[in-house]
Amino acid sequence: MSAPNSDYDPVEVTPLHPDEVARVAREALEAVAAATTLADLKQARLDHAGDRSPLALANREIGALPPQARKEAGQRIGQARGEVNRAIAARTEELEAVESAAQLAAEAVDVTLPVDREVVGARHPITTIQELVADIFVAMGWEVAEGPEVEAEWLNFDAMNLGPDHPARTMQDTFWVEPAESAQVLRTHTSPVQARSMLTRTPPIYVVCPGRVYRTDEADATHMPVFHQVEGLAIDEGLSMAHLKGTLDHFAQAVYGDGMTTRFRPSYFPFTEPSAEVDLLCYVCHNDPASVGSCRTCGGEGWIEWGGCGVVNPRVLVACGVDPERYSGFAFGMGLDRTVTSRYDIADLRDLWDGDVRFTEPFGVGL
Ligand SMILES: [Zn+2]
Repeated sequence: MSAPNSDYDPVEVTPLHPDEVARVAREALEAVAAATTLADLKQARLDHAGDRSPLALANREIGALPPQARKEAGQRIGQARGEVNRAIAARTEELEAVESAAQLAAEAVDVTLPVDREVVGARHPITTIQELVADIFVAMGWEVAEGPEVEAEWLNFDAMNLGPDHPARTMQDTFWVEPAESAQVLRTHTSPVQARSMLTRTPPIYVVCPGRVYRTDEADATHMPVFHQVEGLAIDEGLSMAHLKGTLDHFAQAVYGDGMTTRFRPSYFPFTEPSAEVDLLCYVCHNDPASVGSCRTCGGEGWIEWGGCGVVNPRVLVACGVDPERYSGFAFGMGLDRTVTSRYDIADLRDLWDGDVRFTEPFGVGL
C-alpha cells in the first residue's frame, strides 16, 4: 500500500488511474470471455477477481487516498469489479450449460440399439424332473411329502429296519452331526420322510418324497456326496407287489412315453420284504433285437437300472405305528441325478452342481 497522500490527487496512484483501471478491467473481461471450460474460468476468476488480482489490490489503495478522493476512486473500482463479477457469473452459467449438455450426450443410452445378450436363466434339470415326478403322482391322487435333511438317527435307520450293526450306519457312509450324542445325521436316503408320513398320517397313505440325500462319497464324475432321490410309499388295505408293478409301469410311461415297462429282479433291502431291483426298458432301443446290440445307452442289455422297491417290511410298519395285520404297502426309490445324466448323455455328474447357467439353459423348457 502506498503512503497516504496529503493532496487530492487520485491519479498519482497508478493502480487507481482511470486508464489503468479500464485496462485491467478490459483484461479481466477478455480472460473471462476467452475461458472455454469451467476450469479456465476458475483460473480467470482467481487472476482477475481474486484477493491478489489487480482490481483487488487497487481497491486497497483507496484507503490511502485523502478522504475527499475516496468516493470517486471507490466508484470507479467498484464499477469495474462489478462488471467483471457479472461477466464471470454470466460466463459460468454458459459454460455449465455447455458442460452439462456434453455430459448428457456422453452418457446418453440409445434404447434403439439391438440387445445382444439377455440372460434370463433357466430351471435346473434336477428341479424340473422332481416336479415332473411330483406331477405324475399328484395326478394319481398321491401327496408330495418333504422332510428335514438333518434327520434323527432313529428315523433314518432304526425306523427303516436298519439295525445298529447295519453297514450303512458306519462312519464310511454317513455324515454324522456333531456332537455324537445329538444322534442326528444328514439323511442318507429319503426314507425317513416315509417314516414321518406313517407317524403323522392315518392310512390310506400315498406319498411321494423327492429330496436331497447325503453319503460320504468322494466327488468325481460318477459320485457326489450329495444327490437326489425320489421315493414313493403306499399304505392301504390289500396292497401287493402287483400294485407296485402297475404303479411303476405307469410312472415309466409318464416319463418316457407309451410302451415303456419295467422288470423286477429279486434283491434285498432291510425296509422291504420281498424286495426287488427295478429295471427300466431301455428308452433308446426298447430292447428291440434289431438295435439293442449296438445301443450305447443300455450297453446292449435292453434294460437300464432304475431303482429299488418292494413290499413294506411289517417291522417298518410296526415301528411307524401302522397295524400290519390290517394294512400292507409298497415302497420304491430311485436316484434322480443318474436319471438326468443318462437321459441327456451327461458324462460328468459334477456338471449338475457347477451352477453354470450355460449348462442349465438347454434344459430350460420341460424334460
Ligand atoms: Zn438300449
